[in-house]
Amino acid sequence: MNSNTNIPLGEEQQAFRTTAERFARERLAPRYQAREQEAKIDRALVREMGSLGLIGTDLPERHGGLGLPSETTGVIIEALAYGDLNVAYVQLLGSLCGQIIVHHAADDLAAQWLPRVISGEALIALALTEPRGGSDAGNLVLSARPTDRGYVLNGEKSSISIADQADAALVFARTGRVEDGARGVSAFLVPMNEPGITTSRFTDLGSKVVGRGSIFFDDVQVPRSNRLGDEGAGFAQVMRGFDFSRALIGLQCIGAAQASLDESWAYVCERQTFGAPLYRNQGVTFPLAEYASMAAAVRQLCYNTLRLRDSGLRHTAEAAMCKLLGPKIAVDIIHQCLLTHGHYGWSLDLPHQQRLRDVMGLEIGDGTAQIMKLIIAREMLKPHAR
Ligand SMILES: Cc1cc2nc3c(=O)[nH]c(=O)nc-3n(C[C@H](O)[C@H](O)[C@H](O)COP(=O)(O)OP(=O)(O)OC[C@H]3O[C@@H](n4cnc5c(N)ncnc54)[C@H](O)[C@@H]3O)c2cc1C
Repeated sequence: MNSNTNIPLGEEQQAFRTTAERFARERLAPRYQAREQEAKIDRALVREMGSLGLIGTDLPERHGGLGLPSETTGVIIEALAYGDLNVAYVQLLGSLCGQIIVHHAADDLAAQWLPRVISGEALIALALTEPRGGSDAGNLVLSARPTDRGYVLNGEKSSISIADQADAALVFARTGRVEDGARGVSAFLVPMNEPGITTSRFTDLGSKVVGRGSIFFDDVQVPRSNRLGDEGAGFAQVMRGFDFSRALIGLQCIGAAQASLDESWAYVCERQTFGAPLYRNQGVTFPLAEYASMAAAVRQLCYNTLRLRDSGLRHTAEAAMCKLLGPKIAVDIIHQCLLTHGHYGWSLDLPHQQRLRDVMGLEIGDGTAQIMKLIIAREMLKPHAR
């Protein structure tokens, strides 16, 4: 990585960064494009990540994690995404779902799943969105009907990352009445091999390795012990989770964009036009300089948000800002880098086009720009509301 990505790190964080950067350089980057053809997550690679301690470092030691600050998770995801944005989803989902489970699942249930997530043995999907809409997520209809032993789930989750690869899903279902809105939503940890579960896969523009699809629930029996926290508490649980994941996604996108930027700085030194290297033209270097500045600003915003989280301070608006700016700026950066490479950039041989497609998905996933603006405005208005 380029030196302009520097942030002050403690010794332990630096060690994680070094390990993640080496893994990204040696194991991820060389097959970033080849992996797209395979269109699935390489489980051996995930186990390797787990054995290096690169998944769920923020999760507690009693469940196999290291209990490290969220900032360290940010350092790792940025470094991994530099090599492969898609493989970095594993760490994103591990920390997002892992933290919700740690805070709200019974200890037995957490002990059953978290060590496997952290070691890279298991993947857990987050299943919130439904066919009728994702922005108004509290308005979901997938039903969890109570029975003597637990619940029976019926309905469809749609647009779910790793839908057809996950070993379990954190499913947000309606236990209350539809009129209760977000207050009638409860969370369940559901193994994906339960009878009555089937999946489909969508044909997507990018992130084909992660893959998105629907999960169908047809009379799926879930024991009461697999419910997370109280009935009706699920929506608040996932929203708190997003305050973490949105800062991580910002860094994931900036990590990928930084790879394109670094490659572009090198390219403008090699490529000659009109008898001189490209870098002699300010028309070439100024856009890169502007985007290097924007990447640095978003990076600082994301790390600051994670530090707020680590200090126990409110960071909902900041997290939404990370998610608003990270994917958008990353898309702009990678687009510019693609153009800087001229006709080579347009070729499928270079990684910029894939990075552009992969990063663009995160302009939608985990909430769109409009929804982030709604959240930021709501937070800004709070002191003024009567
Ligand atoms: C790559 C990717 C990965 C994803 N992974 C997951 C996952 O793992 N789990 C999961 O549960 N979901 C996932 N999603 C779904 C994602 O969270 C939803 O697509 C997203 O929240 C938007 O919902 P929607 O697609 O239904 O759009 P809609 O809610 O139908 O919105 C359509 C458009 O209208 C805009 N809009 C909606 N309401 C308003 C408003 N009030 N004001 C202004 N504009 C508005 C939106 O911004 C959007 O541009 C993923 C999506 C993608 C693309």
